[in-house]
Amino acid sequence: MSIIVQKYGGTSVGSIERIQAVADRVIATRDKGNQVVVVVSAMSGETNRLISLANQIDKKLSSREMDVLISTGEQVTIALLTMALQQKGATAKSYTGSQIKMLTDNVHSKARIIDIQCENIKTDLDAGNIIVVAGFQGVDELGNITTLGRGGSDTTAVAMAAALNAKECQIYTDVDGVYTTDPRVEPKARKLDQITFEEMLEMASLGSKVLQIRAVEFAGKYNVPLRVLSSFEEGEGAGTLITTEDDEMEQAVISGIAFNRDEAQLTISGVPDQPGVASEILGPITKANIEIDMIVQNVGEDGTTDFTFTVHRNDYAAAIDLLEATGKKLGAKKVKGNDAIVKISLVGVGMRSHAGIASSMFAALAKEAINILMISTSEIKISVVVDEKYLELGVRALHSEFGLEQKTT
Ligand code: ASP
Ligand code: MG
Repeated sequence: MSIIVQKYGGTSVGSIERIQAVADRVIATRDKGNQVVVVVSAMSGETNRLISLANQIDKKLSSREMDVLISTGEQVTIALLTMALQQKGATAKSYTGSQIKMLTDNVHSKARIIDIQCENIKTDLDAGNIIVVAGFQGVDELGNITTLGRGGSDTTAVAMAAALNAKECQIYTDVDGVYTTDPRVEPKARKLDQITFEEMLEMASLGSKVLQIRAVEFAGKYNVPLRVLSSFEEGEGAGTLITTEDDEMEQAVISGIAFNRDEAQLTISGVPDQPGVASEILGPITKANIEIDMIVQNVGEDGTTDFTFTVHRNDYAAAIDLLEATGKKLGAKKVKGNDAIVKISLVGVGMRSHAGIASSMFAALAKEAINILMISTSEIKISVVVDEKYLELGVRALHSEFGLEQKTT
């Protein structure tokens, strides 16, 4: 008998009615001859409600107590779902993170999973139980409750699937899969039947918030087939399967277009072109815990050079202050910034074996008179920074240039 792990997010368990529907789906999966482990999130809005209660006491709270608080949402859902399953005649049993010994490190609010003890669960499954596990929560070596970061139930599900050697980890959510791009920007966006872990990581890190990034990393590392599908849609073969690259299958060159509206660009020009300058410029920024995304240094001329880099828009004000201070110290000619930019990226493992993708991308943008401010590339991604007013136009132009609305096999 194969094991299937199903994870249901907050909206899928948002009411008793929805929980009943989940119970029906779980029973149907079991009736197809599977052993089922269900991982659930808190009912939608619950985690935020708990956080806002705490914030009424203080904004700076003990992270240990915060985890004690916000892990309760999932405990409510496992009990309710297990009751619904039992009421429908199934034998089912719920488990909290500490009951399954979901061992994590002690970094509260973003703990990492170290180990899971699955012996009890395997025995319970073999005895015919459906197992319902609280997502998002774990326990450290000393028994303190930890949580895995917002959206962490995805990671719980993948970790369970890896530990139990499950056939598939199914993530039920309110969208029916992973799209070539955000359908709100390009209505012709198409649902992908399949995407690789690597591509999904790029899409997720660029803002396609279908899955917690850590869950995708975990699934890739342990090779857990991951399927994203809607809890409103019929089960098998549906949604998007995230899996390893398949040589048999001819890959589409480009799988999707991701974008990020949260970027800002900073430039320092006329700094001495000598060893140590890059670290003098970027050092204070990283020390302030500001994450730097793209970095470009110009070819030096007359002994000086320019640097441009991007940061999250929320960090823009702090970053520009730091850069101005560095500019004074280095005698820079100018420091300037722009927080009205976006990043658009083409993602596809097929890029590795296809030349000319970058030039087609730039030509498609040029045809729309979109000026490119920065370019960066990796093995499976090409990103450009453009003025934010060109986001929609740029995404649509590229979507059509690479034929993403058509079925490519
Ligand atoms: N309840 C947690 C959150 O809202 C975890 C999850 O939903 O995956 O982030
Ligand atoms: Mg969630």
